[in-house]
Amino acid sequence: MATIFTKIINGEIPSYRVAEDDRFYAFLDINPLAEGHTLVVPKQEVDYIFDLDGDTLAGLTLFAQQVAGKIRQAIPCKRVAMVVLGLEVPHAHIHLIPINSESDVDFHKPKLQLTPAEFEAIAERIRG
Ligand code: 5GP
Repeated sequence: MATIFTKIINGEIPSYRVAEDDRFYAFLDINPLAEGHTLVVPKQEVDYIFDLDGDTLAGLTLFAQQVAGKIRQAIPCKRVAMVVLGLEVPHAHIHLIPINSESDVDFHKPKLQLTPAEFEAIAERIRG
């Protein structure tokens, strides 16, 4: 069965798209720790990130680097953190989170509640 991220990539489930190329897709996390919290995924459906072939893993990282640059231009922050958990959705993904302090990457924190219009405005700012 297709993962929820494959359904997002295929447009069967809506998402706030941030960036895309033929192999990778970036979109806003629906339960963000911060404005601009983005997920970067390979279109290829592989559960565990370190099971990706080397070329795809390298490509995913380079794609994330480009997206992080766009996030940093759009969202005031000290840095963009790169976090890999993968405990919830079995489709390899990188979290990119704008941060100002270590506590900004605490996944136990209450998530931001944003309206669809706010999500879309953030995605638009990052897309540039
Ligand atoms: P992880 O697998 O890295 O532990 O967490 C998965 C992440 O995917 C979570 O931060 C969660 O909010 C996000 N997520 C789960 N389902 C959806 C969805 O349908 N749409 C979006 N945009 N994000 C999702």
